[in-house]
Amino acid sequence: MKLEKNKLLDKFGKNIIFKENLSKYSWFNLGGAAEIFFKPDSTKQLTDFLKTIKNFHKIICLGAGSNTLIRDGGFSGVVIKLSPKFSYINRIEKNVLEVGAGTLDKTLSKFAADNSIINFEFLSCIPGSIGGAIIMNSGCYGEEISNILISIKTIDFNCNLKEFKKDQIKFDYRGTNLPKDLIILSAKLHAKTGDKRLINEKIKNFIENKKNSQPSQIKTCGSTFKNPKNKKAWELIKDSNCNLLSFGKASISKKHCNFFVNEGGASSEDIEKLIESVRQKVFEKHNVNLELELKIIGETNKND
Ligand SMILES: Cc1cc2nc3c(=O)[nH]c(=O)nc-3n(C[C@H](O)[C@H](O)[C@H](O)COP(=O)(O)OP(=O)(O)OC[C@H]3O[C@@H](n4cnc5c(N)ncnc54)[C@H](O)[C@@H]3O)c2cc1C
Repeated sequence: MKLEKNKLLDKFGKNIIFKENLSKYSWFNLGGAAEIFFKPDSTKQLTDFLKTIKNFHKIICLGAGSNTLIRDGGFSGVVIKLSPKFSYINRIEKNVLEVGAGTLDKTLSKFAADNSIINFEFLSCIPGSIGGAIIMNSGCYGEEISNILISIKTIDFNCNLKEFKKDQIKFDYRGTNLPKDLIILSAKLHAKTGDKRLINEKIKNFIENKKNSQPSQIKTCGSTFKNPKNKKAWELIKDSNCNLLSFGKASISKKHCNFFVNEGGASSEDIEKLIESVRQKVFEKHNVNLELELKIIGETNKND
């Protein structure tokens, strides 16, 4: 289905960009352009947009891009990224926070700490948005977002608004069974009051541990592979002698070998070659098929 550029521009003006380079929206700093990039300011505007592009279903929602590799050929469809208007935190009841899906995990963790709310400490270490955290069931140090979730408000690509209670969603390790054609708009989370000093101490320890075990200030999307049952992906990678593998400017972090890195000037294809090579070596050595934690979107370079 062809989308009418002028009609979309008339209706959505500054919120829509054609051929937007996506590399600045991924932590890898890689990727080609989106055919259409839409940044809604409100649920109403998002609904209007989805109605206008009705029957065009090559759509993806991007959060903070800290878990997404965008291919060099870009995305020949619609990329939706919630605007900063979807970044908000409201304490709607003493024990309930309502949080916009675009809110950064770190912002929420700081809000919780400032207001003596416990169980949000782990979010201080995760660089994504709340929408991304729910889709990924993100977590660390034995904690994950599903533990504090009450419900989510969503819209699907056919404009149906729906609230899912936590028990209607099956959460796995780094994933959920939520339908693919869904955009999370906001979430309600449990707000339990605790000791501010202990909360800040926990955050400090988490951040310290992360600093000691994981690289920072690099172009990466965190863990590339999920940990297989009872095993650590990084140990399997190390034990398969993959640490020194590289393709072009794509390499493996010296500090944490499940973190793959764009050293500057890599292509997404380089990262994918590295992924495949590591997967193959680990399979040969350990008979384990590593599963991607990272999401990969888009098309390979059209000139290839
Ligand atoms: C340095 C570093 C450290 C990390 N450490 C951790 C860690 O400790 N634990 C951990 O779990 N992860 C970690 N990650 C990975 C990543 O930060 C998480 O997976 C994060 O929750 C992804 O959120 P995001 O907003 O960046 O998602 P994106 O990468 O933008 O998207 C991820 C998925 O969520 C979907 N999505 C995003 N927003 C929405 C929405 N509003 N509605 C519907 N779908 C949506 C996307 O379509 C995609 O499928 C780390 C990453 C980095 C770079």
